[in-house]
Amino acid sequence: MAETASRSASGPTRFPPCLCSLREPERSDALAAAVAQAERVFLALDYDGTLTPIVSHASAARLSQEVRKTLALLADAEDFCVSILSGRALADVRSRVGIPRVIYAGNHGLEIAGPDWSHVEPEAEHRLAELRSLAQRLSDELTTVPGAWVEDKGLTVCVHYRQAEEVSWPTVHDTVRKVCRGTESWLRVQPGKRTWDLRPSLECHKGTAAAYIRRRLGLDEAFAVGIGDDVTDEDLFAALRDGLTIHVGLDHDTRACYRVAGPAEVLDFLGWLARVRGLAGTGGEG
Ligand SMILES: [Mg+2]
Repeated sequence: MAETASRSASGPTRFPPCLCSLREPERSDALAAAVAQAERVFLALDYDGTLTPIVSHASAARLSQEVRKTLALLADAEDFCVSILSGRALADVRSRVGIPRVIYAGNHGLEIAGPDWSHVEPEAEHRLAELRSLAQRLSDELTTVPGAWVEDKGLTVCVHYRQAEEVSWPTVHDTVRKVCRGTESWLRVQPGKRTWDLRPSLECHKGTAAAYIRRRLGLDEAFAVGIGDDVTDEDLFAALRDGLTIHVGLDHDTRACYRVAGPAEVLDFLGWLARVRGLAGTGGEG
């Protein structure tokens, strides 16, 4: 990938300059050759904001039939491993995608499952009772903020405030800080897109999840592709620095090699991947 990767070795690049080559991927001969010649391809995808548009309520983020069809085509190929790594609970993201051959990682990699295997981080399971308590306290405190709500995802907790009035956002931030005070030794509190994610501060994230899947399935030598839109996807990009990484959106700094505007361009790219790999039923423009 050295001939196509554009990031600096010393740190993130604010505006990766190769965006245009992904908007019209056929122009990038070096990239197409690298993808076509790889023995196997490992695909690690975020869900919300990457495969689906960002919506006002997380429950409304549905996969389109077109995206599902393209993912199924890739997942059915013997030389492809498709994984979806999400901050959602594993059962949630798996039910939303519903493709049996896909590998799913939920709760930022604390739980991972393939078609006939699963892995849960034991240290996270030990904190379940404390996480329940935090979720309940946050939920109680935030009843005074219309539009803010708490999602209990088992091994993690997420505070959503996208639908809250902007004037009340500081109240949300203060409440999260107050309720989480004293948990610094074991809890990681991380901002997202109008969310606060609370999770056990283990060395466990989308990057470690991708590494676990590659190691477990013997994919360390596979051509790796990572795509995501959120700050939590930066861990994935770091883990896949030997591969092709794509940040979705134009909103924040990234260490990814490339950048695309939104989920529509991700679908275009996945269609291009299928065509370059010669998969059947990919005669159209993705
Ligand atoms: Mg996302």
